[in-house]
Formats: sequence, structure tokens, C-alpha cells
Amino acid sequence: MIIIDGEKVSNEILNSLKDEVSKLKIKPHLVAILVGHNSASETYVGNKIKACDKVGFKSTVIRFPENISEDKLIKEIYKLNNDQGVNGFIVQMPLPKHISEHKIIESIDPSKDVDGFHPVNLGKMLLSLPCFMPATPYGILKLLDYYKIETSGKKCVVVGRSHIVGTPISVLMSRNSYPGNSTVILTHSKTENLKEITKSADILIVALGSPLFITSDMVKEGVVIIDVGINRIPSMVSKSGFRLCGDVDFDDVSPKCSYITPVPKGVGPMTIASLLKNTLQSYKNNPPKEGKMLRTFIKKLKLNDTH
Ligand code: NDP
Repeated sequence: MIIIDGEKVSNEILNSLKDEVSKLKIKPHLVAILVGHNSASETYVGNKIKACDKVGFKSTVIRFPENISEDKLIKEIYKLNNDQGVNGFIVQMPLPKHISEHKIIESIDPSKDVDGFHPVNLGKMLLSLPCFMPATPYGILKLLDYYKIETSGKKCVVVGRSHIVGTPISVLMSRNSYPGNSTVILTHSKTENLKEITKSADILIVALGSPLFITSDMVKEGVVIIDVGINRIPSMVSKSGFRLCGDVDFDDVSPKCSYITPVPKGVGPMTIASLLKNTLQSYKNNPPKEGKMLRTFIKKLKLNDTH
């Protein structure tokens, strides 16, 4: 059994990004929008900012109160769409209930949608056209590729059909490419006989958000498991009283696996590396023009003078 080291692969990607960035005069700029005070979101954004620092990106966090209106948030997004000094931005989900996540995502300029959630990017992904792939599925492909795991002709079962993980990874695994060419079954909460289906998987990708859900009786000998889940469960041994775990019961299932991702240090770090890769790609697609940036800066100064 091989434990897939997502942290190591992610660090290699970040180091190669760092090399590229060190040669750039103007640094790529990633902006993260945070609405309200969700502690998990704070941690996720904090990790993204740390990774930006590591590779030499400029990063900015823009915070808005929980009660910001949908219209106001969309206006702020338009500002970022038009800001030449921003290469990519993300709106950290989940958003407060009064704000439509779909409307927010659709208001992002697809050329700056480095999370790859915009319908234009998802549509392009479906057609195998160049696009920003959703960061987590992109990270999963990178892991399969890094470990040279055979996917062609294999039966791949995906548990969970969210727009950000399950659905896109099911599309990517069925594409005519490597990693891909798998025969994919996408399962969800209405799936009958789930255990029978997961047991038939050569590759099992699990993203449902239910701690330790997949147990050894649900998988076959030699399976490759990609565990996307991140859950906090009570722990007697950790100081905080909690520990992180995946959707797969690692201790129970891992002896049966050929490869398995741990939680933490599996898929999670790859999501961040993919986000930064997308941001550098966005920078390359629209390289900054120094004159243009200077003009924008002067324009901003003039605007400020009038207040
Ligand atoms: P969602 O809550 O958006 O979707 C969960 C999916 O699981 C749904 O499609 C749901 O089905 C399905 N599901 C729920 N219960 C069952 C069940 N008993 N049997 C089969 N399917 C079921 O989850 P996300 O995709 O956003 O996240 C999943 C997990 O991955 C979470 O733990 C999240 O924290 C983690 N995550 C980790 C990331 C990383 O970087 N490592 C990135 C993103 C997420 P239905 O559609 O019918 O409701």
C-alpha cells in the first residue's frame, strides 16, 4: 500500500511556481473575498495566502460583513473584474444564505475565475477546451499523474456530485486523455446499493462530507482511493479536542488499497497548488503592461484627489 503524499507533490508544484515567479518583474496577484466569520473559511483562505507568500505572489484578502447585500458584493466583484492589477480572485464559499452563490460565481469574469467555478470554465472543461479547471479535481489529476496510476479502462466510482468536486472529476476521469479514459459511475445520496457499486471500483474518489463513511467492507482489494473529505471529529488525544479526518476510514480501509490519500496532507494541499497554478496561467494569458498599470495607478490617484 502506498500513501499518496499530497503535501510533497504540492510543495514540488509550489517550488516550480516560485522559480517562474522569481523571474517576473511584476508579481501575479491573487485576491480572496471573505464574507462573514466562518472559521473553516478563515483557515482555508489563510492557507491560500500562506502559499501565495511562499511562491512570491502578491495576495490580498478583502473582508465583508455577514450582512453585505448581494448587489453590493456583485459590485465589488465587478471592480476586481476591471482591476488590471488583479490576475485572479476567489470568493470563499459558503456565503450567507441571503446571497446566491450562483449569481456571485456568474458575476466573476471567467478569465479571472481561478477557482474554475464559472459556467464558462465548466462548459469549456466539458468540451476539453483550455480553461481554468476547478482546483480540487485538477489537483486529483495531478496526483494520479505524479504516481503514474493507470486510469485507462479502469472503473472509477465517484461518491458525491457537487459542482466543485464530484461532478467535474467524473467528467475529467471519463475524458479521452491521461488521467482519464476511465469508465465512470457518479453516485449520490439517492444511489441504491452504494456498497455494491463502491466495491466494484478500481479507483474510488470520495467527496461527500461524511466522516469515516467508507469502510473496508465497501472496497475491493487493490483499490486506489482518493479521499477528498475534510471533517473535524472529536479526539481524546489532540490538545484541541478535535482532529481532521476524511470521508474514508483510513485505518480500516488502507490495508486493502494499492494507493490511498491521507487526510490531512492528501488532496487538500493539491487544491491550493492548483489554485496558484491557475493564477499564474491567468497572468500569462493577460500579462501586465507596465505602462497600463502606471496609467491605472495615476487615474486612481486623481480620483482620490477629488474626494
Ligand atoms: P457537498 O456537500 O456539496 O456534496 C456532497 C455530495 O455527497 C452530494 O452530491 C450528496 O448527494 C452526496 N452524498 C451525501 N450523502 C451521501 C451518501 N450517504 N451516499 C452517497 N452520496 C452522498 O460536498 P463537497 O463536494 O463540497 O465536499 C465534500 C467533502 O469534500 C467535504 O468534506 C468538504 O469539506 C471536502 N472538500 C475538500 C476539498 C479539499 O481541498 N480537500 C475541497 C472541497 C471540498 P446529493 O447530491 O444527492 O445531496
